[in-house]
Amino acid sequence: MTAGRNGAVWAAVVPAAGSARRMGFDKTLARVHGVPVLARTIFGLRRSGLERVLVGVRDAARVRAEVLRPFGLDDVALVVGGETRAETVALCLAHLPDATTHVVVHDAARPNCSADLIGRVMAAAEESGAAAAALPVVDSVHRVGGAGCIVETLDRSDLRLAQTPQAFHLPLLLRAHQEVPAGSDDAGMVAALGVPVRLVDGERDNAKLTVPADMPPGDDASTVPFAVGLGHDIHRLVPGRPLVLGGVRIPYECGLLGHSDADVVCHAVADALLGAAGLGDIGRHFPPGDPVYAGADSLVLLARCRAMAEDAGWRPVQADCLVLAERPRLAPYAESMRAALAMAIRIPSGRINVKAGTNEGLGAVGRGEGIAAQAVVLAVPSRAPARPL
Ligand code: MG
Repeated sequence: MTAGRNGAVWAAVVPAAGSARRMGFDKTLARVHGVPVLARTIFGLRRSGLERVLVGVRDAARVRAEVLRPFGLDDVALVVGGETRAETVALCLAHLPDATTHVVVHDAARPNCSADLIGRVMAAAEESGAAAAALPVVDSVHRVGGAGCIVETLDRSDLRLAQTPQAFHLPLLLRAHQEVPAGSDDAGMVAALGVPVRLVDGERDNAKLTVPADMPPGDDASTVPFAVGLGHDIHRLVPGRPLVLGGVRIPYECGLLGHSDADVVCHAVADALLGAAGLGDIGRHFPPGDPVYAGADSLVLLARCRAMAEDAGWRPVQADCLVLAERPRLAPYAESMRAALAMAIRIPSGRINVKAGTNEGLGAVGRGEGIAAQAVVLAVPSRAPARPL
């Protein structure tokens, strides 16, 4: 629970048990950029300091599995809701902790509400007992007759569009739910008691997701048709090991120490490729302790990472890498590295760049104790995207 000013103890109630007839699917479970609408709404309430959140739902098991557990929201309480929004709110109110003095009611399908707006509505309710977000009406509003023709145009200067959050001194909201007929929102029910409800300027971004067109586009390849990844690796130089960089054997008195052939260039490109595909890093897929990879040819590992990225939906189209070594001089080998890497990740060699530099004598690389490499990879969808969301 959240302590407000003047000893107020706050909780939030989120009715999310509606049938979403106008949306045609359960909009609160639909994902926007990978995060369900309901989770976004709860995160917004938490950002305003509302720790105790009760959500009225239809299918508690599904909400727990798809929204709460995957997003670290296990402490959110679920209450099985009723047939109407008012019933669901009333059922949630009946489950509030005893110490609760004030409650915020917020629509599950308004995921973009700012913490500032929630805070302003709460502050107004602490002062006056009841407050709600609302917007002025900017379009003309016509009252129509049976034939769908205009009967009268209303004076919009005294009309407001109701939003949530709405916030109340709890006894007042409980009384409204007992004494007045169920309304379409809680502010209207409290107002029907004859109690003033203070209106606070709402936000256009705080729109309710009501019809499919309201859902923002997904973040899949249809809207962001590329992905980038970053890779970095460093290995120690020791005598008695071959030096392999970018798949090219380079004559030198020392080589890089590692479980595989310790090719830092291949490892950096592989990490960048896995990064672009959202697949973590090579350590996760090729554990350093695994005997299978002892002395492994890193070009082979890189080709496997390319296949894994492709399976995950991402095909590399460009790479840039930087290899930092004080000695030996690597510039003469840059073209061969480029060709070997291009073959491993199957892109034209003109789309891969290898830069060799020194570390200007600075740090471990500058002292010649090791060789480091960095890479970025650009990838594009490897297949037609699935439906957004
Ligand atoms: Mg490595």
